[in-house]
Amino acid sequence: MTAIPRDLGLLPLVGVVAMHFLSGSAAGQAAEPALERHTFAEPHMGTRFKIILYAPDQATAQQAARAAFARVAELDRIMSDYDAASELMQLCRKAGGPPVRVSEDLFRVLLRAQEMSRRSDGAFDVTIGPVVKLWRRSRKTLRLPEPTALRQALELVGHQRLRLDESTRSVQLLQPGMQLDLGGIAKGYAADAAQQVLRKHGIHRALVAAGGDIVVSGPPPEAPRGWTIGITPLDDDPTTPPKRYLTLQNAAVSTSGDAEQYVEIECRRYSHIVDPRTGIGLVGRVSATVVARDGTTADSLATALVVLGPDKGMPVIDATEGAAALFIRKTEAGEEARMSQRFSQLAYREEAR
Ligand code: ADP
Ligand code: MG
Repeated sequence: MTAIPRDLGLLPLVGVVAMHFLSGSAAGQAAEPALERHTFAEPHMGTRFKIILYAPDQATAQQAARAAFARVAELDRIMSDYDAASELMQLCRKAGGPPVRVSEDLFRVLLRAQEMSRRSDGAFDVTIGPVVKLWRRSRKTLRLPEPTALRQALELVGHQRLRLDESTRSVQLLQPGMQLDLGGIAKGYAADAAQQVLRKHGIHRALVAAGGDIVVSGPPPEAPRGWTIGITPLDDDPTTPPKRYLTLQNAAVSTSGDAEQYVEIECRRYSHIVDPRTGIGLVGRVSATVVARDGTTADSLATALVVLGPDKGMPVIDATEGAAALFIRKTEAGEEARMSQRFSQLAYREEAR
């Protein structure tokens, strides 16, 4: 028997760098033989949500997974920017007006987003909406955004123009036309929330993957070191086995990069991640994998690291408690990897190709 069975059922994942999950490195040592492994998947938030959990029986597993997915669906209804009826879109329509009281979830995710904006010196910014819209159009038309349109959109961007008041749980967008985009943080937040629901159902050994945003609780019974998660290299065929692996428990890992969502115009490749200071989609083939204590942090920090690049971004990672990162850039000479200080403390393995 091979030491690590591959879980091909998890492929392919949509959105970011596809990841493979493996578990069970110590075959035969069933510490808790009463627990069975169950796998569930549903589409949410424009990606594939996957839950792998250990439960004493099928009914417990199903109830827990169903409740977790229902929670994710609830968050999607709040945070979607594709759904005009979402709470987020309703809030954006009131941009330029007085403060608006919002739900606890929306308030909490915006607080976390603002915290990440401050930490990353504005590289992560959920007010990026108007600019992201222009780039979405570019992906369809294969033409760069008009410079004037881009300039106007940029005038609506800036986390200082988003005001949060904790005492009234209210949000104010200071300028009319502002648009919030939670695409860089909502999936991590939803994966955290799904894990909370699973815990309430007594599930303490689970993996929740929202595309490339993954949150794990306790390890699989047969793999006490944790969940082994493979990071698929940039541009690789997602069916190729990854060469980089992380083994984690009670942690989160997110990968951001240009894997699938990019547009190529005049031989340059622009990512769906935009630099809020210039309004330009990131150029070049990079991917940032960030490990953190929770999914909300990992998701937003990975997006920030792509924007900042390793020289400016790694100090932000090092300053974040419990965070570690791997930054990969593809050049003509091959792949260039950079690791944060704490990365060497992780259970990380790289196979020769
Ligand atoms: P993915 O959506 O592929 O998982 P990310 O977590 O990096 O990748 O999020 C990218 C999304 O975040 C974009 O599609 C866009 O909606 C939003 N976004 C783009 N640039 C920024 C930015 N500088 N700060 C915050 N969010 C951003
Ligand atoms: Mg992100």
